[in-house]
Amino acid sequence: MNWFRRINTLVSVVGISVPGALLSSLPLMALAATLPLAAQVPNKSMPIVSAPQAPPPAENAMAKEAEGWLADLVKIDTTNPPGNEQAAAKYIAEILTKEGVTPELLELAPGRSALVARLRSAAMPDPAHALLLVAHMDVVGVDKSKWTVDPFAAVIKDGYLYGRGSIDDKGMLAANLAAFIALKRSNARLNRDVIFLATADEEQGGDASIRMLISKNWDKFAAGYAINEGGRVILKNGKVQYVAVQASEKVPVNVAVIASGPSGHASVPTKDNAIVHLAAAVAKIGGYTAPVHFTTIVRRYFEQLAAIEDDELAKWIRSLDTPDRGEHAQRFISDANPLWNSMMRDTIAPTMLTAGVRANVIPSEARAMLNIRLLPGNTIDVLLTDLTKLVNDPQIRFEVQPDAGLAAPPSSLESDFYATITKTAAQEFSGAPVLPFLSAGATDSAQLRLHNVQSYGVSPFPLADEDSRRMHADDERIPLASFDKGVQFLTHLVSDFAAAK
Ligand SMILES: [Zn+2]
Repeated sequence: MNWFRRINTLVSVVGISVPGALLSSLPLMALAATLPLAAQVPNKSMPIVSAPQAPPPAENAMAKEAEGWLADLVKIDTTNPPGNEQAAAKYIAEILTKEGVTPELLELAPGRSALVARLRSAAMPDPAHALLLVAHMDVVGVDKSKWTVDPFAAVIKDGYLYGRGSIDDKGMLAANLAAFIALKRSNARLNRDVIFLATADEEQGGDASIRMLISKNWDKFAAGYAINEGGRVILKNGKVQYVAVQASEKVPVNVAVIASGPSGHASVPTKDNAIVHLAAAVAKIGGYTAPVHFTTIVRRYFEQLAAIEDDELAKWIRSLDTPDRGEHAQRFISDANPLWNSMMRDTIAPTMLTAGVRANVIPSEARAMLNIRLLPGNTIDVLLTDLTKLVNDPQIRFEVQPDAGLAAPPSSLESDFYATITKTAAQEFSGAPVLPFLSAGATDSAQLRLHNVQSYGVSPFPLADEDSRRMHADDERIPLASFDKGVQFLTHLVSDFAAAK
């Protein structure tokens, strides 16, 4: 993509108009700096807010209690499919009932329920003020042969709790439950309703997912604000570097690549073999890099990141938008971290291949599946036009699958709740800044944002890369010290925002 086209794309994103002649001479970081969103960039010389590190005994006891819930939840196998989330919902219902809260199970399909519970602030509360705590109960499958422990035994080893879902998302589920119960036990007067919601079918997004839940039961959990998974507390060299709060997410779209050719006896091959055409097409697609496009959230993320990264990296980050060094910087930053690459552009991952029925039969069709993650605002049609040109083969066609995600508007970075998250994070993590984050992965928040909920991904556990990479992978585990710290952070955050002063 040439520079001029990119500059125009950027200008349309930030929603201002500048004459073309002026633009061509103006570095975009400077342009962005004049925008209100970019006004609050933290600086290395800012004083570090010191925070008490050891939690008070009562909070420590709550975190230990929550560790027990997490272990129990991991032991309830909610692998999706089939999910069986009802068993987890019943377990949570029992805990809440003991606390004097009346939970409600919302059945979505046989064996599949969501659970909702509410702490009331008034007889006629305003749903637009309510705070929703969301976590999903289902987990992705496991390849047991690749695990060093039983993935559903909640084994504790070397300070870690191992198990499928220990991070995604039963860790968050147990932490939300702890924050909710701590608020209930505190008997604090609330200035808004706080709603606990445990969802089903997040990993497949099927008929028991939040989409169905919203269409059937929206009135039971309608809220103006939400906390969900999707963010990260970045642990680097044993210290929290920053808290990434997810305010937007990429849009997943699956696309089949279908090659066709004549079938025949494998002893008499021809050049138009469907498998050969498919392989060539997939190889070209694998080498493709989509153009860079900075959304408002990503722009602000990099601006704030430049203020806290090492000088060398910061220099490249600051050059991302410059006309002379932009392209070089984009390559450097993409190579430095695949997550940064995915925040700047649409990505394509070939994930499945199918062809053939017998070793001696040339098949008439071969298929590959591409898992595409679009930046919100980009469309699949534009990308497929590029890919069709790139592949340039009449034997290849693309077929968009019907299970695409939804593009939602980003959550506001100017809301009261975002300000509370920023303040609480600094208190909990020794002055660590909050950076707005666009997640490459999809969450339930897209559905909530489409219903005017300011939903934020605040996964509260400080995790090193080596641990967060295990989500959806073998030997998923959470350091118990991080879990405890996350429970404390979330508990403070919820009570700060919900308890009337
Ligand atoms: Zn998840």
